[in-house]
Amino acid sequence: MSLTEKTDVLVIGSGFGGAIPAYNLAAGGAKVTILERGPELGAADFTQSLEIGGYTRIVDLIQGNGIQVVAGNCVGGSSVVYFAASLRAPSFVFNRRGSTDHRLWPRAISRRTLDPWYDRVEETLPVAHQTWDDVPYAGGLFAAACRNAGHTCNPVPLAVDLDRCTNCNWMLNGCRFDAKRSMLLNYLPAARAHGAEVRPLHEVQLITKALTPGYRYQVDYTVVNPNDYRIPAGVGSIEAKIVIVAAGTMGTPVILRRSAATLGKIPGAVGKYFSPNGDRVSMAVMDERRIRDVLRLEREPGVAYDAFPIGKPIGSMSYDYLNGQLPEFERFGLQQIYFPAITNILPEDGTPGAPDWFGVDKKLLAKKWRSWLTLLALTEDDNEGKWGALPPTGNFIRVASSAVISSLSYHPNAHTLRGFAASDAALRAIVEKDGLGQHLDWTGGQPVLSAHPLASCRMGDDPATSALTADHQLRGHPGLFVTDGSAVPTSLTVNPSLTIAALAERASPGIAAAARAVGISVVGDVPPPGR
Ligand SMILES: Cc1cc2nc3c(=O)[nH]c(=O)nc-3n(C[C@H](O)[C@H](O)[C@H](O)COP(=O)(O)OP(=O)(O)OC[C@H]3O[C@@H](n4cnc5c(N)ncnc54)[C@H](O)[C@@H]3O)c2cc1C
Repeated sequence: MSLTEKTDVLVIGSGFGGAIPAYNLAAGGAKVTILERGPELGAADFTQSLEIGGYTRIVDLIQGNGIQVVAGNCVGGSSVVYFAASLRAPSFVFNRRGSTDHRLWPRAISRRTLDPWYDRVEETLPVAHQTWDDVPYAGGLFAAACRNAGHTCNPVPLAVDLDRCTNCNWMLNGCRFDAKRSMLLNYLPAARAHGAEVRPLHEVQLITKALTPGYRYQVDYTVVNPNDYRIPAGVGSIEAKIVIVAAGTMGTPVILRRSAATLGKIPGAVGKYFSPNGDRVSMAVMDERRIRDVLRLEREPGVAYDAFPIGKPIGSMSYDYLNGQLPEFERFGLQQIYFPAITNILPEDGTPGAPDWFGVDKKLLAKKWRSWLTLLALTEDDNEGKWGALPPTGNFIRVASSAVISSLSYHPNAHTLRGFAASDAALRAIVEKDGLGQHLDWTGGQPVLSAHPLASCRMGDDPATSALTADHQLRGHPGLFVTDGSAVPTSLTVNPSLTIAALAERASPGIAAAARAVGISVVGDVPPPGR
């Protein structure tokens, strides 16, 4: 008999994709263990500073080839550091084909079939609907500029307790006021209340076949040093009857590809078809005088806007280009966003010719920093990303706290570039109408910057281009499920967390059924946390 630890359901990662099935299975009666690579922090631990040792403990800035990705590294995953914009994907997204000849989403999933799961997540987080009084200056300015250009713009629904929110704009660092409704405040405590065990600083390396009869998989992990995640502090293994991989889009394909040697053949789509959710960051430098004269906006007498760092990061969004009648790759959402780390990097200086990263124009641009408006277009990309060589351990090579190098490469093709060009033109028309401001491209060291990685282990009906079946099971590996952003097949034209969460809710009863089939006593129909 093996002396390896045992559990019914082992969950890798504690973000939306991990916490949601962990709750549902624990509440249903299963013994659930969650292994989470990052540390566990709460409101009192979060800092309001960009100094190294603060947010860098819980956020990874991942450098790939052609792309930089931002992701969470802590209990609660990216939900702890995210900006909480909570939107349902439009219906047309589920019919996307990209440059293939077939629908990329499984037939079983449409906006209509996902709506009940969206409902359940919105109730649980919960999601609040901002009025214009809740929207910060930057969001109001973007909305007024949209109206001036003949476009609509709406306040964005947020998973934020608006009564607790102080508009401090430090969401990237974790919320000190417990206003942001991250997994730390709903699914994870509810899972723990049903006996689930969360183990921080446990980095999963490998999944192999279990030796003990009745157990399918063995998961090997390294315990990492809390002060330097590169230093191992121990190793261990757990056998489980069901494994749920939810290490995030940047982690799940790496763990699975490393495990191919021990698990046997894994689907070819693992580690391919990555999507940055079509994220296209750009910047506008606003002319305070024109804002006052044209838009009639004043933050206070004599100050039109001048409010770059004030408020919640995401306030408003135009849905005008989310029109299912438009051709694929020409539909996008346009959003006002604020991203503290972005202020360390500068946009193009707006003058033709090199260098675009230094010089007098750049200095002048920095001087107007408080009048910058950061903008995000959420476009349709063509899933062009793929992983290269496996790192020796973990998901990537960690060179310092928060600074990591991944073998992910992403080079947008002509389809994606068409969407980028169309969204750039739409934003330029809004921002530059009547001389309100100057729309500037991004030059952040990497051409694409994304906080919304998706699709690196995607679901679908076609085994050649998807790794998971419609019930989130890895093809050829019964009892091994993937429920995080990596399962989402395509970019969404809106921020992805609500869709990841709804899919994880939808997957949970099926995982419970698979658990029952291997002798775990668990029900699949449990009330949402807190009800
Ligand atoms: C700064 C920022 C702002 C954002 N703002 C928004 C927004 O406003 N709206 C929105 O919809 N989306 C937003 N997002 C995106 C959203 O947060 C993510 O899409 C979503 O949280 C991803 O959930 P997930 O479960 O797929 O992955 P994650 O939440 O990233 O969870 C993966 C977890 O697995 C852990 N892990 C990774 N590897 C291992 C391993 N080897 N062993 C053990 N554990 C491991 C990670 O530490 C992490 O906790 C934002 C993201 C960021 C970074």
